[in-house]
Amino acid sequence: MKVDDEALVRRVIGRYNCKTCGEVYHKDSKPSKAHNVCDNCLATNSFMQRADDNETSFRTRLVNYYRDTSPLIGYYHAKGLLRSIDGLLDISTTQKNILKILEI
Ligand SMILES: [Zn+2]
Repeated sequence: MKVDDEALVRRVIGRYNCKTCGEVYHKDSKPSKAHNVCDNCLATNSFMQRADDNETSFRTRLVNYYRDTSPLIGYYHAKGLLRSIDGLLDISTTQKNILKILEI
């Protein structure tokens, strides 16, 4: 998935979930309708953020990705096996694009 690094940072640091039911939210793209109330299970004060969903931890993960994983992009590209999709599209479109690739 092709995704701009800064867009990834914004996604990660804004993400939180309900520890009661697991519903996932984002402060910008999918906030809860009422402050501190889960839309799904109506739990109050049940929101939490993963310990590593902060900017410092995420940037470390990003550096590790570029060091350890990104070299595979060139390897698979050279073999003609690389398929890329836009990772910033909505979930439904992204899912469809992944399925199209897997059906080849
Ligand atoms: Zn909930």
